[in-house]
Amino acid sequence: MIGTGKVTTRIFKFLSRLQPGSVREPGRSRDSLLQDINSLRARLHAEQDAQLRLQAEHLRRQAWNESLLPEAFALAAEQAERILGMRLFDVQLLGALVMTEGKIAEMQTGEGKTLAAVPAACVLAMASGGVHILTANDYLAKRDAVWMGDVYRSLGFSVGCVTQQMTAAERRKSYACNIVYATPNEIGFDFLRDQLCLEPGELVHEPFRAALFDEVDSILIDEARIPLVIAGGDVTPPDLAYRCAAIARTLRPHLDYGIDEYARNVHLKDPGGAIVERALQCGNLYDLRNAHLLTAILDALHAQALLRRDVDYLVKNDAIELVDEFKGRIAENRRWAAGLQTAVEAKENLPLKKQGQILGSITLENLAGLYPHICGMTGTAATQAAEFYGIYGLEVVAIPTNLPMIRVDEKDVRFRTKAEKEPALIEEIAAVHATGRPILVGTASVIESERLSASLHQAGIQHNVLNARNDEAEAQIIAQAGSPGAVTISTNMAGRGTDIPLGGTPARDRQKILDLGGLYVIGTNRHESRRIDHQLRGRSGRQGDPGSSRFFISLEDDLMVRFGIRDALQDRIPEAEAVEHVQRIIEGQNLEIRQTLRKYEQIIEAQRRIIHAKRRAVLTGDTGSLLESRSPELFERLCRAHGRARVDDWERRLALLKIDEVWSDYLADIADLRSGIHWVSLGGKDPLNEYLHQAATRFESLLAGLDEQIIGGLSHLPAERGEAAGLPQIDRGATWTYVVSDQPFGNFSERMSRAIVQLVRRML
Ligand code: ADP
Ligand code: MG
Repeated sequence: MIGTGKVTTRIFKFLSRLQPGSVREPGRSRDSLLQDINSLRARLHAEQDAQLRLQAEHLRRQAWNESLLPEAFALAAEQAERILGMRLFDVQLLGALVMTEGKIAEMQTGEGKTLAAVPAACVLAMASGGVHILTANDYLAKRDAVWMGDVYRSLGFSVGCVTQQMTAAERRKSYACNIVYATPNEIGFDFLRDQLCLEPGELVHEPFRAALFDEVDSILIDEARIPLVIAGGDVTPPDLAYRCAAIARTLRPHLDYGIDEYARNVHLKDPGGAIVERALQCGNLYDLRNAHLLTAILDALHAQALLRRDVDYLVKNDAIELVDEFKGRIAENRRWAAGLQTAVEAKENLPLKKQGQILGSITLENLAGLYPHICGMTGTAATQAAEFYGIYGLEVVAIPTNLPMIRVDEKDVRFRTKAEKEPALIEEIAAVHATGRPILVGTASVIESERLSASLHQAGIQHNVLNARNDEAEAQIIAQAGSPGAVTISTNMAGRGTDIPLGGTPARDRQKILDLGGLYVIGTNRHESRRIDHQLRGRSGRQGDPGSSRFFISLEDDLMVRFGIRDALQDRIPEAEAVEHVQRIIEGQNLEIRQTLRKYEQIIEAQRRIIHAKRRAVLTGDTGSLLESRSPELFERLCRAHGRARVDDWERRLALLKIDEVWSDYLADIADLRSGIHWVSLGGKDPLNEYLHQAATRFESLLAGLDEQIIGGLSHLPAERGEAAGLPQIDRGATWTYVVSDQPFGNFSERMSRAIVQLVRRML
């Protein structure tokens, strides 16, 4: 380990733990604060608008200290009441207080989290200079910024939002606001683009100060591991992909190739290998020089055997659109890792998208780590409380509902086979539908929603389908999903965030629906995460309304098959408790997978921070001329020929591009290292240790060689006057951003899922 000790220590020192950071001391109880806020609120109620504005201005001028909080809350609440006509409930103020403590407020769906965020955001903006409110999608970012905008402005705060189609100038303007609504993806992509700027004026972000995460579990748990990527260059994928897709189509499962039992990985068997060798005429496929062929054919097989059209992805407008498993909707700008993406395009005979070299990447978890203060809110955090605390230091505080929740969650109805489940499901829908009560049916995939739709059609039951294929109709379908007699078949799309008004829109028939028992939610599957099930149930029984929910499950459901539960139960019908138990185990194991992956990633994130701190210093001109100190004669000569300002400018741009190039190569190198690291366990070494050792060593030599590389680039500059036309292009081609759907970590997660299956079996 010679030489790596130093760098490793440096890195781990650099890795600051996430600090949720309260902006107030927990000195006083929330109840006593609430009393103060409410009595202030009563006093403010009698004041003129102009007086409130003056008071807000006075408040904002003072240096922040905790004693200002009640007044800030009272002003925000009073302005919200005047401007929006909504009087914040005590539970909303309570949720806001929890967030100012740097915690997660668990507030049920429909309780009004959008409004509850306002006083918290005001205090965060005052205490730390600015706040990002991270939302689940662009639509919500814009909606909430507009909806709450006047309240903030009445208190003297500027408000902005950032959405996908905005220009750099518009983004810069929005980020300069005190309060910014945006999705983590936009914020992350802008962060990545900022890391590649060649001029300080191109930067769009302000320093990161505080973040309030809406639907925090969706962002910081479900999507936490997903890397946002920025790529550049222009690598046309090889046509080889089409040939491999054609070959993969002819191979027979189990004979020519094998699929592991959890359907996560494929491998070629001998007969299959022979077929491929003949088709490609490449000699021994396992020869080192054929590595690219083997990779291409395995990607083609993976695409053929494991990725299901209309479940994992859709084909829309000649392109692959990935379906987000948790949200049940199309995941914008999402791709699989390069080779697999090309293989799926080839499988569907689509034009192949160009691939590029990865220039930078960050996971949402690490993005959260850039904020000195974080907090959040969601309806479903409790089951993940340990993870929130362990990873982010975020405590979860459950906030009571404003009115008692009276929804009835019925016991699961359980079947042996799907063939038994489906008719029962149709029967139930028909019977309830006959009473006029609205029904929402949550299914697991696009294809399942469409199959159910066909059966309902046969049964003569009118209904709407809401899935990734027809998301344009979403707002309209949701608006009427609570109408008398409405039947809505949906994927997880109707889970998070949607507000289904009882009695339709406008809510003419609300009383009628209340009398019928409110919205009836049916789930046709249990998801592997209990939170997703809770989100579905949560569409019903909002704000004290009546409602009920029930799941119909069978031993042939995905969850049961994938984790080997069906085999373990040997045809016995699972007890309701058993399913919950299994979900709990799977959640626990998923947590363990995330924690292990994190160990692989932390070191790279720490290294990224070192590189980018260095880069930022070069960008803003905080470092002197490297050339001048290292190679004074060359520097003198260049300055005489072109003038100092120009030489400085070249040096800066070249240095920036060189840093980017070196980092990009390093990322590719590390990706290779990572995908091969499991082999070392065959040699009796621990893969993680070996990986950390290698990454530390390689990074050390990257740093050591960086200055030489920059000087090397500069030595090619023309040293004679008038030669400037012959300058190398000191610029970068186009870049683009996307999200990687799955880490190329096959063997690793495969091992982990095997552990899950064994555990699950033992429990049953
Ligand atoms: P959540 O995000 O918690 O699911 P929303 O913020 O979408 O809830 O709000 C749900 C509904 O409740 C909205 O229609 C909103 O207008 C309404 N609402 C929120 N707070 C109040 C309040 N204090 N008084 C009246 N209506 C409210
Ligand atoms: Mg919401």
